Amino acid sequence: MILASSASSSSSPVPSIRSHEHYPATPPFTMGSTALPYLKTNPKVIFFTDFDGTITLEDSNDHMTDNLGFGGERRRQLNKDVLENKVTFRDSFRDMLDSVKNPFNECLDILRANMHLDPHFAEFYYWAKENNVPIVVLSSGMVPVIKTLLETLLGHPLDDHLTIVANEVESRDGRDINTPGGWQIKYHDDSHFGHDKSLEIKPYAAVPFDERPTLLYAGDGVSDLSAASETDLLFAKAGKDLITYCEREGMPYTVFENWSSILATTKDILSGKTVVKKEQKAITLSYSYPCWLGTLATQHVTAYWIRPSALALSFTPENQRPLGMTWPSN
Ligand SMILES: [Mg+2]
Repeated sequence: MILASSASSSSSPVPSIRSHEHYPATPPFTMGSTALPYLKTNPKVIFFTDFDGTITLEDSNDHMTDNLGFGGERRRQLNKDVLENKVTFRDSFRDMLDSVKNPFNECLDILRANMHLDPHFAEFYYWAKENNVPIVVLSSGMVPVIKTLLETLLGHPLDDHLTIVANEVESRDGRDINTPGGWQIKYHDDSHFGHDKSLEIKPYAAVPFDERPTLLYAGDGVSDLSAASETDLLFAKAGKDLITYCEREGMPYTVFENWSSILATTKDILSGKTVVKKEQKAITLSYSYPCWLGTLATQHVTAYWIRPSALALSFTPENQRPLGMTWPSN
């Protein structure tokens, strides 16, 4: 049984959200070594997941922006601008967080009092610990926020089977982060998401598929798409943007309402009752060169395979956000 359902796709060109990472054809990996730390315990399954709106019921960054920053109306407009490629996620997200002037420790206190876990996540967390399933939280949010919320809501320090990979918080202009206006987000990498979540998964996806664990992913937003494409099965939250993007990009997905169905499916995958088809994930082969494209001026054109059946082209002028298209989309 293959759980991932085929989604319809659009025939119109869509902006590519893939990173332009070059990945070696023979990546260095050692099963069971610390070279790929989530393989250390020889798991059969690794569970990668988004945090805000996936593990939590509400997005903590939205909560801060709406209640402490410039408010929900402007945030929603910026989200729309990102969807229409008028602004990058990276820039819009920084604008949202910059509008929050509360000291960082005060933000943490407010989030502790207002955020809630999915009612079934704790059960998944403890099952994963007992069954050697590493959980890797990949987030566009900030590590101290995520760690604080998980430890508060679970009621204890995090266990070794859960790892958080996300952006950090840093001082603004040398000020104490726990003073008004004293903190800002420090992005994880140079991607236009601020944190390209696929970077953490790629080394695992590049291990020959018959030698590696099954890679699962759960998410709800646009920043999850590039990561999800590296895994074998994607759980996409019902009614959220990720499903819209999956439809548009022709990405298979399984809808989830909460972590109870994720837990049930992951149990079945681990026991072998459900078989997820694993594929050798596409190695990014890219070639980039500057050229003249009429009114687009001088562009760095990069062609790369995003999966065996899809070629992506990106056009990246200096100091501008990437434009791109994929062909075919399915
Ligand atoms: Mg999310």
